[in-house]
Amino acid sequence: MAGEPEQPAGGRPPATGDVVVVGGGLTGLWTAVHAKLSDPAASVVLLEAGVCGGGASGRNGGFLMTAWSKFGSLAKIAGVADALAYSRAVEDAVGEIGEFCTEYAIEAEFNQAGWVWTATNTEQVGTWEQTSDALAAIGASPYRALSREETAAMTGSPVHLAGVFEAAAGTVNPARLVRGLRRVALQLGVAIRERTAVLGVESSRTRPTLVTSGGSIDAGTVVLATSAWTATLAPLDSQLVVLGSDVVATDPIAERLEALGLRRGISISDSRRTVHYYRVSEDGRLIFGKGGGGVAPGRIVGRRFERSARRAEEVRRHLRRIYPSLWDVPVPHDWRGAVDYSLSGLPFVGRLHGQERVLVAAGFSGNGLTPSYVAGRDLARMALGRDRVAVPEALGRTPGRRLPPEPLLFVGGEIVRRAVERKERAEDEGRVPSRAARAVASLDPTSFVDGGGTATKPSNLMARRCR
Ligand SMILES: Cc1cc2nc3c(=O)[nH]c(=O)nc-3n(C[C@H](O)[C@H](O)[C@H](O)COP(=O)(O)OP(=O)(O)OC[C@H]3O[C@@H](n4cnc5c(N)ncnc54)[C@H](O)[C@@H]3O)c2cc1C
Repeated sequence: MAGEPEQPAGGRPPATGDVVVVGGGLTGLWTAVHAKLSDPAASVVLLEAGVCGGGASGRNGGFLMTAWSKFGSLAKIAGVADALAYSRAVEDAVGEIGEFCTEYAIEAEFNQAGWVWTATNTEQVGTWEQTSDALAAIGASPYRALSREETAAMTGSPVHLAGVFEAAAGTVNPARLVRGLRRVALQLGVAIRERTAVLGVESSRTRPTLVTSGGSIDAGTVVLATSAWTATLAPLDSQLVVLGSDVVATDPIAERLEALGLRRGISISDSRRTVHYYRVSEDGRLIFGKGGGGVAPGRIVGRRFERSARRAEEVRRHLRRIYPSLWDVPVPHDWRGAVDYSLSGLPFVGRLHGQERVLVAAGFSGNGLTPSYVAGRDLARMALGRDRVAVPEALGRTPGRRLPPEPLLFVGGEIVRRAVERKERAEDEGRVPSRAARAVASLDPTSFVDGGGTATKPSNLMARRCR
């Protein structure tokens, strides 16, 4: 991970804490930082099994997305008014993250250059229309429609056939952001203990007790910010599926990318289920990722989420399909991580089992960078006995639908995932996918944008295409 100057964060955990956060990713760190900023006298402890940023937060694509692309699912669960307020809060959060980085001197390469939501085959064209139309109907217009020529010019490749542009989105170097946040948390007085795994939470007493690899802690409130690792925790285990996402990075090729018309900081993603996402880094590399890279057996995040040479090669192949002129560019770097997809495509932010003193946030579904800031701010408020301000109450309720138990989820999930891949490969090649592939792929409950699961009614367009 790219880093800031390190300070030690080890040792035995303290015996007590007003707010004890589990997980040193962005959700946990934002919670701890906001708690300290709101109440400097509160004792805030953060426990991390590995190192801060070692999970998804330090290895993601760096897209600071808003929540507008999930508006349909959100409105269905929370109602239009709350969905609108939350989406506005997440949109504002992009700029607030940038301001925070400036104020605390975090060199996270923040850049608010916008996002292109695009189509790289005819089947994807118009995927954004239902969301865009629903937003227009309530007077929100985060997207500007692009002509085919504009889309190709902005993305640097004619493989992009159509799209919309959202100016509010940004990008960061995620590892720099999370390690910078760790430094700020330490400076504010958060007691961070890395390499300290929480083994259990005993919450039957008035104050919960955490059992850790370094001793027990008596907590005022516990905040579980363990993303994909939450997927084995009831009742969220029936709501979350863990999938891999794979990223590759080229050597620095700033001049080649500029010649294509690709601007630094602009983020691009296509409209497939196994979403492709890409951007140019500050040091002129093309960073290219692909979602949907394998279901976690037993929902357990194991070593298979560290690296996969086979998946990386697949991602390189897609990079070269979209940017054929870069055929000769070395793509030496690859990594992967675990993504916690929820059935609704939206995060759960609330009390575990309705318990007053155990809070949890998980299920960011591949869009967690900006929402984790908003969730962390509300979790800090709730942990300090205040009301949430931005995340709708509805996101604290688990929906009635349930995923099948293991090993059915793993076996079924892999069958569906492979059908999605077959279908999307056929679409890329201009072939009609087989009826079987379409039927099985349509069972996929995970989605990066609106249209995930049954939380949203599929658009006519999507229905017509049996997505
Ligand atoms: C490859 C990839 C690309 C992505 N790209 C984007 C993107 O471009 N934009 C976007 O918005 N989102 C993206 N995401 C999703 C985003 O990274 C996550 O939603 C976000 O980082 C979640 O942050 P978090 O703090 O909740 O979880 P994490 O960063 O995963 O942190 C959870 C932490 O909990 C710790 N932990 C787990 N169990 C325990 C325990 N028992 N005791 C102590 N600690 C524990 C883990 O070690 C881990 O460090 C991507 C994800 C991946 C994997």
